[in-house]
Amino acid sequence: MRYISTRGQSAPQAFCDILLGGLAPDGGLYLPESYPQVTRAELDAWRQLSYADLAYEILAKFITDIPAADLKALVARTYTADVYRFTRNGGNAAEITPLTRLEDGLYTQELSNGPTLAFKDMAMQLLGNLFEYVLEQRGESINILGATSGDTGSAAEYAMRGKHNVKVFMLSPDGKMSAFQRAQMYSLQDPNIFNIAVRGMFDDAQDIVKAVSNDAAFKKQYKIGAVNSINWARVAAQIVYYFQGYFLATRSNDEQVAFTVPSGNFGNICAGHIARMMGLPIAKLVLATNENDVLDEFFKRGVYRPRTSKETSVTSSPSMDISKASNFERFVFDLVGRDPVVIRELWSKVDQGQAFDLSTTVYWKDKPKFAFVSGRSTHADRLATIRMAHEKYGVMLDTHTADGLKVALENRQPGVTMIVLETAQPAKFEETIREALATRPVRPAELEGIEALAQRVVVMDPDVAAIKQFVVDHL
Ligand SMILES: *Cc1c(COP(=O)(O)O)cnc(C)c1O
Repeated sequence: MRYISTRGQSAPQAFCDILLGGLAPDGGLYLPESYPQVTRAELDAWRQLSYADLAYEILAKFITDIPAADLKALVARTYTADVYRFTRNGGNAAEITPLTRLEDGLYTQELSNGPTLAFKDMAMQLLGNLFEYVLEQRGESINILGATSGDTGSAAEYAMRGKHNVKVFMLSPDGKMSAFQRAQMYSLQDPNIFNIAVRGMFDDAQDIVKAVSNDAAFKKQYKIGAVNSINWARVAAQIVYYFQGYFLATRSNDEQVAFTVPSGNFGNICAGHIARMMGLPIAKLVLATNENDVLDEFFKRGVYRPRTSKETSVTSSPSMDISKASNFERFVFDLVGRDPVVIRELWSKVDQGQAFDLSTTVYWKDKPKFAFVSGRSTHADRLATIRMAHEKYGVMLDTHTADGLKVALENRQPGVTMIVLETAQPAKFEETIREALATRPVRPAELEGIEALAQRVVVMDPDVAAIKQFVVDHL
């Protein structure tokens, strides 16, 4: 399997060659040159498999440059009931992403039972093991520099902690994350993990990472890398739980299901799109946004209008607060018939902050083929949905999953089971849960009191030179 760039001006690459990088050299995103097709016989056989064995079967179609035995071992080490042990609602940890039945034909799928209680762990844990394996093979090392407002940074740190030849330097806005999120990240004592709290906002932290990434000489000399959401391996890892959710929710491979995905950077639902392109019987992919509705606007009207950071609101489902969706180019590439010339034209606008409109083009007529629908949710909807789910179904939802359920209920079809992806646990968003339910969210017993653990973090000014120096001093 080779990987091509959506902009068509980079040479095709093997999986391990794109694993450690980000964008293709031409500025595009990597995608498989074609989607592997899953046969009915495979679906029938896969229905019986454990999560790890299923993950191996699917990933082996995308990763053809790691020997089968090594890939199998690596995947088996990643997807264990111990790593994904924080189940709730009676879920079976051995299923890794178990379903919770809300009512007949309506489920949530728990993707947030990993170490940081958000779905980022599903892919990031695999990435940690893949990085270690490939770096070892090549005798190389990498220093990951990132900025986080919460979920991604902690998932990266828990995935990379203790890994050979990997160091992580994670910038976060000083004092802007919840006490629980700070404790999750800053309590890590592993010597290869460095937390830097930047005096400023998330954007200031992000700008520093961008400035360092733009310094090609520094990047090369100090082997600076990233693990952002455009990383292809993360998308590939996420394909697996769509198959698992389908198998758990249905009795035979003649049935169809719909998935609702609380979305921000389009990484999660992009994996659902690929699962469907591979032949998984998905009737609909329902995309849910919060008040930052750039994607809802596109799927309703065909206009993609990236927002400025001023136009981006801070909401109570913060992991979906995006101004543009970094993985979206992958879907549009398929929508325009995989024509890189069209993508270059469209993204010449996006990259300058301008909108494009597909509604009057031939491509928009093809949109129904891709089975996407969308909806949006607001703070008031979120509170109402958390309350409703608590009263009616006896479950406590996090704010992002509540956005998903709100939009899912608007898009149910008779005879089609609806699966809402649960992207985080309510414990991560205590303030809003208190607002909705006047009670403290349930938290896994093991994580009680983590706020009291010793923290390992340095506080710094948003000064690019000083932060570069910190990195150099700790290599
Ligand atoms: C990252 C995240 C999302 C958004 O996922 P994308 O892949 O960026 O669309 C939704 N919910 C939670 C809790 C997240 O951490």
